[in-house]
Amino acid sequence: MSVTPAVSGKRPRSLERVVEGIAETDGAGVQLKRIIGQPALDSLDPFLLLDNFRSDCADDYIAGFPAHPHRGFETVTYLLAGRMRHTDNAGHEGMIEAGGVQWMTAGRGIVHSEMPQQENGLLEGFQLWVNLPASHKMDAPSYQEFSRDRIATENRENTLIKVIAGETALGTKGPVNQPLTEPLCLDVSLQAESKFAERLPPSHNAFLYVIHGKLEVGGGGKLARDQLGILSAGDRLELTTGAQDARFLLVAGKPLKEPIARGGPFVMNTKEEIQKAFADYKAGHFG
Ligand code: FE
Repeated sequence: MSVTPAVSGKRPRSLERVVEGIAETDGAGVQLKRIIGQPALDSLDPFLLLDNFRSDCADDYIAGFPAHPHRGFETVTYLLAGRMRHTDNAGHEGMIEAGGVQWMTAGRGIVHSEMPQQENGLLEGFQLWVNLPASHKMDAPSYQEFSRDRIATENRENTLIKVIAGETALGTKGPVNQPLTEPLCLDVSLQAESKFAERLPPSHNAFLYVIHGKLEVGGGGKLARDQLGILSAGDRLELTTGAQDARFLLVAGKPLKEPIARGGPFVMNTKEEIQKAFADYKAGHFG
């Protein structure tokens, strides 16, 4: 089926700001690009961090992310290529494969490892951190995991949309459910010389991240590969491609508007809560 939806909405979102990622090393020496959670963009409420890894050189990723803790938010891993094995201190274990997503609610605390399961070839994907409100930071840890074939897809004219979370204007619903921040996460492939339109909740902060190709956003502004575009307020988004095909993430979430205190792998509301997280972790109170 090929359908172009009549997307309602009167206030198109434009490109407010373009952010470039910076090179970072994390885990046991994984080379990645940090786009949210760096000096140019500390956070985009409720999103605390966005990392992109893309390398076909094993030295860049093979060391992986050995056992480390998290508290107070959610980590989302979305792989475009490669495989990662995930284990935690509660005995949970699984493989994240290309096209699949793991949405982990760390809540009051988890100790986990994320290790690439390949010795060569391309590893490509994203890690996104989504904040939790103060009232849910100490919830029990939980997982939402979906392999490639369980991610909803929607075909429109010249467009393929993978719906990870949220719902499109045509009613395609992603498998991930998070009523606290009502995230919309779409992975959109758009052919050359094509148009894309989608509605966006006016309450939500939203961004685009270009995986490849180039985009022109509604009322003006261009985005190229590996650029993040913060969208202005509004209730709809319109995009066009030029001579090249494009692929991008469209991510939106309801801002929590709470103070953010960071301490490495912990994100709470106050400095005291961060100190408590380090103390609890040291004392072995996680998981
Ligand atoms: Fe982690």
